[in-house]
Amino acid sequence: MAAAEGSSVETLTTTLNTLRTLRSSVTLFFKIVSEGPKDENSNEGENNLQVEAMKVLADIKTHLRELEVQVGGLAPPTNPVNLGNTGLLSLDPSPDKLPLYYQLLDCYTWMEKVHCYSTIMYSLLSGNNLKRSSVSISLSTKRRRQAPLNHNVPQQQVDMLIQGINQVYQDMTLNISRPFGNNAVVQVTLGRVLRAVVTFKGILIEWVVVRAYNEPLLDDDGMVDLYTPSLYEVFQKVTDNANAAMLNFCSPGFSDLSVRSFFTWLHSFASLFTDVCKRCSNHLHNHMPPTWREFRTLDAFHEECKP
Ligand SMILES: [Zn+2]
Repeated sequence: MAAAEGSSVETLTTTLNTLRTLRSSVTLFFKIVSEGPKDENSNEGENNLQVEAMKVLADIKTHLRELEVQVGGLAPPTNPVNLGNTGLLSLDPSPDKLPLYYQLLDCYTWMEKVHCYSTIMYSLLSGNNLKRSSVSISLSTKRRRQAPLNHNVPQQQVDMLIQGINQVYQDMTLNISRPFGNNAVVQVTLGRVLRAVVTFKGILIEWVVVRAYNEPLLDDDGMVDLYTPSLYEVFQKVTDNANAAMLNFCSPGFSDLSVRSFFTWLHSFASLFTDVCKRCSNHLHNHMPPTWREFRTLDAFHEECKP
């Protein structure tokens, strides 16, 4: 085995020498051609140049053939490359005198970093700039692990969260059902003001529809109607604002809190038709009650009076 390795190293050295000879011949050829004939005025100079160039070209041809034959005889290494005596550098008892091993380590670390950064850069640059998700996926494995946690939680966790919220408010009832498998759909009845359907994905709110109290929550087939918008402009507006609130409260790290905050916000619509606008102090503006609620203070505002 050692003999085979030794001979392959010898072949490699010979091949590299041939390559070097070939390169110098090529350089020589271009040098001759670029310098041109020594005696420009006579035909003899031109002929000399031609003869010389032909000779070098013939050399190049010979060397190239030689190199091809030698390269054909080289076998790609199957084993990891043996570092040879450089591997023993770490055993040197006085690294102060010979810091080569540490320099090698630094070099290796540096190369690793270059490789790592270039991989990240490649995935960033090749991704579509308009897709934020593709960036976040490639950036770190931490974030990749976090997202499925919110989408894939045990049903009991969602049930307990919804029941907890249900007990807090006397005038708001939440009914949880799972018509589509694992993901919950919560039917909300708020006093005698409105009804809403809140669709969950895991523990994240995915979609909200708000309708009037007298509008049905179920469709013709008796299934929960997730999408049909309300016939009334007031509740269409509240639906838009509810989806904005859902996005505002959404924070992947604190999904429990974001769901609680959303339902607190939604509960403030119990007084939708009795609140006056915080800014203009009127019940109606453009024939609409105050359909906007501040996210933090829950103050009521008309759409046009929003701060
Ligand atoms: Zn107003």
